[in-house]
Amino acid sequence: MSSCVDKASHRLDEFALIERYFKDLTPQVGVCLGIGDDAAIVECSADSQLVIATDTLLESVHFPADTNAYDIGRRALCVNLSDLAAMGAKPRWFTLALSLPSRLATEAWFDSLSRGLADIAASAGCALVGGDTTRGPLSVTLTLLGEVPVAQALRRDGAMAGDYIYVTGTLGDGAAALHVLKNESKRTQQSRLLEHFYAPKPRVSEGIQLRGIASACIDISDGLLADLAHICKLSRVGAEIQRAQLPVHPELRRDFLQQHQHWALYGGDDYQLCFTVPPDRQPHVEKLISAQRLQATAIGTITASKGMDLLDIDGGCEPIGMAEHTLGYNHFE
Ligand code: ADP
Ligand code: MG
Repeated sequence: MSSCVDKASHRLDEFALIERYFKDLTPQVGVCLGIGDDAAIVECSADSQLVIATDTLLESVHFPADTNAYDIGRRALCVNLSDLAAMGAKPRWFTLALSLPSRLATEAWFDSLSRGLADIAASAGCALVGGDTTRGPLSVTLTLLGEVPVAQALRRDGAMAGDYIYVTGTLGDGAAALHVLKNESKRTQQSRLLEHFYAPKPRVSEGIQLRGIASACIDISDGLLADLAHICKLSRVGAEIQRAQLPVHPELRRDFLQQHQHWALYGGDDYQLCFTVPPDRQPHVEKLISAQRLQATAIGTITASKGMDLLDIDGGCEPIGMAEHTLGYNHFE
């Protein structure tokens, strides 16, 4: 394989590096024209709709400045896949808009980033079809394209009073991982949390499974309450959450006795799905859970009165405001 470094200037050649690291990174399924032209062309089926999501990851905002390129690549694709999962879409294609400072523009860095992307793309079955490469502060923007059968996408606006509220997996791991990343000494003991941070498992198969079952769905990126509030606002309903039902990993409960419940409610970066289920479909969901075909926990119900309440086992009730700034992360605070 030829080098991307220009012998005379010792600089990476942009076109050679695109050719080497991105052109053949993923199998080109459903791609009529991939990397190399002005734009890509993909083949969509007539009975499906295209689902499109974009997320940007900035150094020191979405990942620590010392993150290696492999983990940047994995995290960038995982968090974007989570948005498609929340729509019940099947991931098909993605583009990569990359800005990076000269000091990072080495073959080793591109090799590592592209391996991170390729590993996640392989497990999700999606193809890199284009992008842009520029010099600037480190930022990675992915645009994902997915497919869903016509009118079957999961949306935020379909919840009704009486629906059950569920979450996949466990909550609070994202906030705990951030805590661990900020405390150097804890990093070695918490490899489960660090793996969750760099490669949060996107709940794609769960999203697809929930088509025709969930009345509303969102992925938890800003925190359970902040994201459930989006469902409530768009569906014009409220919610009651049973504090004792919140699923927390046993290790999180053990290692962070004081913080785990707050993190489960308010912490970001969990990338689980929060979804609602009408009462007549709830037995079906419970069957899927019992048969271990779906990892999810019922945590409450949708109410007609707007606003969210946290309920305790002993009957206590804590009303939670719907104001965004009190609930979770906000970039413009
Ligand atoms: P243009 O001059 O039209 O902007 P570019 O030179 O930026 O084209 O890109 C040439 C080709 O390489 C295009 O097909 C583009 O999609 C692809 N490409 C550029 N950067 C990336 C990247 N980071 N990842 C994947 N494909 C890329
Ligand atoms: Mg360009």
